[in-house]
Amino acid sequence: MSKQGLPTQHDDFSQWYTDVVRHAQMADYSPVAGCMVIKPYGYALWENMQRQLDTMIKAAGVQNAYFPLFIPQSYILKEAQHVEGFAPELATVTHVGEEKLEDPLVVRPTSETIMYATFKDWIQSYRDLPLKINQWANVVRMEKRTRLFLRTTEFLWQEGHTCHATREEAETEVLRAIRMYEDFARDYMAIPGYVGKKSPSETFAGAEYTLTIECLSRDMKAIQAGTSHHLGQNFAKAFDVQFQSTENTQEFVWQTSWGVSTRLVGALIVIHGDDKGLQMPPRIAPIQVIIVPIARTEEDKALVDAKVSELQTQLEGLRVHVDTRDGMSPGAKFYEWELKGVPLKIEVGPRDIANGVVVLGRRDTGEKEQVSFADVGSKVRSTLDAVHEAMYARALAWRDEYTHTVDTYEEFKKLLEEKGGFFALHWCGDAACEASIKEETKATTRCRPLNFPQEKGTCVYCGKESEGRILFAKAY
Ligand SMILES: [Zn+2]
Repeated sequence: MSKQGLPTQHDDFSQWYTDVVRHAQMADYSPVAGCMVIKPYGYALWENMQRQLDTMIKAAGVQNAYFPLFIPQSYILKEAQHVEGFAPELATVTHVGEEKLEDPLVVRPTSETIMYATFKDWIQSYRDLPLKINQWANVVRMEKRTRLFLRTTEFLWQEGHTCHATREEAETEVLRAIRMYEDFARDYMAIPGYVGKKSPSETFAGAEYTLTIECLSRDMKAIQAGTSHHLGQNFAKAFDVQFQSTENTQEFVWQTSWGVSTRLVGALIVIHGDDKGLQMPPRIAPIQVIIVPIARTEEDKALVDAKVSELQTQLEGLRVHVDTRDGMSPGAKFYEWELKGVPLKIEVGPRDIANGVVVLGRRDTGEKEQVSFADVGSKVRSTLDAVHEAMYARALAWRDEYTHTVDTYEEFKKLLEEKGGFFALHWCGDAACEASIKEETKATTRCRPLNFPQEKGTCVYCGKESEGRILFAKAY
């Protein structure tokens, strides 16, 4: 047990995760099975992520809109692969009061079908293209085994949906969206990922192909931080979304969809957390700087309070919180803010004030230093950037240390058990082979990274020819 009351990650990662989420006041279970309550501290983090992503989405010329929570069941049935993929997870409204519905209503698991039934009326000619719409919403997928943030029956997300005149334009958009998620993960969450293409069996139900960003947790499992799908003309044909081309012919549109969810919060926790608790990346941290005044006498208190007010002025524009709770020792406060992962702390006591300094501490390294009062504003800002860089570097080093390039099935199985992580393997592309590997090792294909070289080899499982390496891992 740590001073924060947590098991170590090494002893019991799963319990560590649940305890961190609950003790840090991020979220908790609710009376509804599989559904969580997101608490203010967790929601503040989500809002910061959402605000930044929303800015990036709008900068790409995408507009926000809102579509109904309910989807007629007949819509879901229109795209065959789509319904097959989602059927086991659908929650359906069959009655209103006593009356049985002719066409039952599905609670949206994703919004392709309801949106495209509408896009059909929005699009007539090539002048209406491209159409780029994003929705921030909740969706419902009935899950049997749930974990706070990582897998819940109801979750929050954004879903982008675009329509284009050509296949190439849609391809460009699919790539743009996944690169946007990669930028967001790197620049705001301090998370590195592999960007690549999913195998057909892991592709979104109804899509031609799926691009993903895959990251590595502290317990050596892959976790997805965004997906982007090329839908081809599959849904356009199912929903009759056509346009008149410049040559006056009637054509089906080419479509994409892409999204990230509150699962990203879970990713952040399993990638950056340590035995003391959470570590919030500074640029999205709900609180960037925690100030703890230390004063024992009334006289000291007046002195310290005055200094804290001056500090707050120096730190204007940052997310700063002053912990003024009475009846709690400074030590207990520090443990709590470490658990909550606040990147920087400032201690202010009478002796520091006499010396014209404050004590600045980093959550990530545990380092403390005295900073002269006049320099606090600039020092805090530059240290927040340094923390971001250090967190990214730590996550990148971890990912690279646990990415293994392996050429035999025996070595793969051995290293998977001993170390875990990503395995760059030659695989023939056969779904049966992929399924056998999954069955025997519980590892699945994560993606074929776009920056991996073309490289012929032989499948580690069956020995047939392979066109290049693909990443396998156990996954969240
Ligand atoms: Zn094979």
